[in-house]
Amino acid sequence: MTATDTVSPGDGRVPGDATRTGTTRAHNDARARSDALALKDARTLKDGPASGDSPALEDATPAGGSASARRADPANSRGNATVPRSMVKARAEQITLLLVILVPLVALIAAIPALWGRWITWRDVILAVVFYGISGHGVTIGFHRYFTHRGFRTSRPMRIALAVAGNMAIEGPVIRWVADHRRHHAYSDAEGDPHSPWRYGPGTVPMLKGLFHAHVGWLFDVEQTDQRRFAPDLLDDPDIVRVSRSFGLCAFVSLAAPALIGGLWGGSLEAAVQAFFWAALVRIALLHHVTWSVNSICHVLGTRPYRSRDRSTNVWPLALLSMGESWHNLHHAEPTSARHGVRPWQIDTSFYLIKLMEITHLVRDVRWPDPARLAAKRSIATRPAADTLSA
Ligand SMILES: [Zn+2]
Ligand SMILES: [Zn+2]
Repeated sequence: MTATDTVSPGDGRVPGDATRTGTTRAHNDARARSDALALKDARTLKDGPASGDSPALEDATPAGGSASARRADPANSRGNATVPRSMVKARAEQITLLLVILVPLVALIAAIPALWGRWITWRDVILAVVFYGISGHGVTIGFHRYFTHRGFRTSRPMRIALAVAGNMAIEGPVIRWVADHRRHHAYSDAEGDPHSPWRYGPGTVPMLKGLFHAHVGWLFDVEQTDQRRFAPDLLDDPDIVRVSRSFGLCAFVSLAAPALIGGLWGGSLEAAVQAFFWAALVRIALLHHVTWSVNSICHVLGTRPYRSRDRSTNVWPLALLSMGESWHNLHHAEPTSARHGVRPWQIDTSFYLIKLMEITHLVRDVRWPDPARLAAKRSIATRPAADTLSA
């Protein structure tokens, strides 16, 4: 997808699915309204300063947003996205994004011969795992389960720490990430979803195009999710606005810190370079592609044990690397649940950490899944006779 591509109102549907296409608009209206209510409900859980009642939040219909939302952003073309006022800035962002994607990807490919030649030490492995854990859980626990879905409440220092840790994943600033993801839930796999792999419909070629779009292509869209409409609570929080604006600094620290620590630990320049390669570049590449696989693969392949209004799936091979996020079908069925891997054998490191933080009083009012609700949402085909959930 190029910068000049525009998204027509028809894009993002699921062609070939008569039951969906026939009812898409009414379906979207109902869904958007229910998501608006969910967001409204989420505001009451807000931990930070008063969130401010934005009319844009109340009216999340795809028909163009409320009058006040349109006034707030005259460039609002479809009610859920905005176009940048400067194409120069948009191009610069796209070039930066291309580098952010390609450089770590080259490192990930180069990791194979580097491993073969044993150009790696335990120091690099430890640093890579630690930085993967910090930045990855910053996204899964911070950006996703906390800021987007309000799966728990926490203190102001923890809010800031979670936002900084998530920024260090270099997947975009916290407010942009949250706005995109709330929009994904509001329109998942239908018109308006920023990254549905079903955008071009079923069939091998459209599916491959859709998978590429859902994985990285959508990141290059000139149209950006309207943050005033989808993340007004965060825009009204000065702490989070500050952290979001310091994305560049967080990204720099995320890349430089492994090199610095590795160099001091190993006592040589080569140790610093090696740590930069493994714990900065390779770690970021792996984290990026695992996160993006949740957007692409986890809406196409895998199982659908729970009923949800989209095509989200559970993909067990990605559970560990995605830190529990690949139990994506459960997540779409119960978006506010702080636990995604709800079975004892379903690895969900984000859940383990939230549980630990709850025990140590770092977080509170955690929204754990309700066994009765989950049992009711089991797909008929997969529903066992006695559906139980272990806590
Ligand atoms: Zn999804
Ligand atoms: Zn979500």
